[in-house]
Amino acid sequence: MPFHATVLTLYPEMFPGHLGQSLAGRALERGDAVIDAVNIRDFATGKHRNVDDTPAGGGAGMVLRADVLARAIDAVSPVEDARPRLLMSPRGAPLTQSRVRELASGPGAVIVCGRFEGVDQRVIETRNLEEVSIGDYVLSGGEPAALTLLDAVIRVLPGVMGNADSGTHESFETGLLEHPHYTRPQSFEGHEIPKVLTSGNHQAIEAWRQAQSRALTRERRPDLLEDDQVAK
Ligand code: SAH
Repeated sequence: MPFHATVLTLYPEMFPGHLGQSLAGRALERGDAVIDAVNIRDFATGKHRNVDDTPAGGGAGMVLRADVLARAIDAVSPVEDARPRLLMSPRGAPLTQSRVRELASGPGAVIVCGRFEGVDQRVIETRNLEEVSIGDYVLSGGEPAALTLLDAVIRVLPGVMGNADSGTHESFETGLLEHPHYTRPQSFEGHEIPKVLTSGNHQAIEAWRQAQSRALTRERRPDLLEDDQVAK
C-alpha cells in the first residue's frame, strides 16, 4: 500500500511541485507515495463559487468558509478513512521528526492548506483536524508547509533512501544534531579534513562524531538536551 496523501488546496497546480524531482520524484514514479491535490473551490456553490468570507466580529482579511471546506473534506475522506486529517497552521503543534516517522508508518494523510486569515474554527472541530506548524513564522498559505511535511515523510518511507542506514544517524533521529561532514579534496584552501576521519579507526571516528554531535547540540539547541531520551 503506498502512502496516500490527499491535499485540499485552492492551488492544486502547486503539487507535486518540487516533490516531482529527485528522491521524492522517484518515489512518486514508483508509486511508493501518491499525492492527490484537490481544489477546494470545486466544492463551492452559487454563481460566484465563493470559498471565503469576511471574519465574524470584524477585522482584517478573509476566512475559508466552514461549509465549503467541510464538503471538500467529506468528499475525499469519508468517516471510515483511517488517515489522519491535518491542517497546516502556525497555531499547530510544531512538526517533529518523530511525528514525521509516525505519519510515514501510517496509510497516508489528508492535508488541508489554509489561505487568507485561516479557516472557520467549526470545521477544525467537527472534522477533527490536527493543526500542524512547520515553524514560528507566517506563510501566505499552507501549500509550502504541506510540501515540506510531505518531503520529510516521503524520504523516510521504506526504500526511498538508497542506503537503509542513512536516515538513522541524522539530526533529530538520535535526539541530537548531526556531526559535520567532509569529503575530498583532503586539503581545501589550506584546511585539512580532521585526521581522525582518515585514520581508518572506526571506533575513534564514531566517538569523534558523537562528541561533535553533543557539542553542536549543546551550543545551538540546548532545548533538545532537555529531552529525557537523550543521554547527556
Ligand atoms: N492568521 C493566521 C495566519 C494565516 S496564514 C494566524 O495568525 O495564525 C495563511 C495560511 O498559511 C494558514 O491558514 C496556514 O494554512 C498556512 N501557514 C502559515 N504559516 C504556517 C506555518 N508556520 N506552518 C504551517 N502552515 C502555515
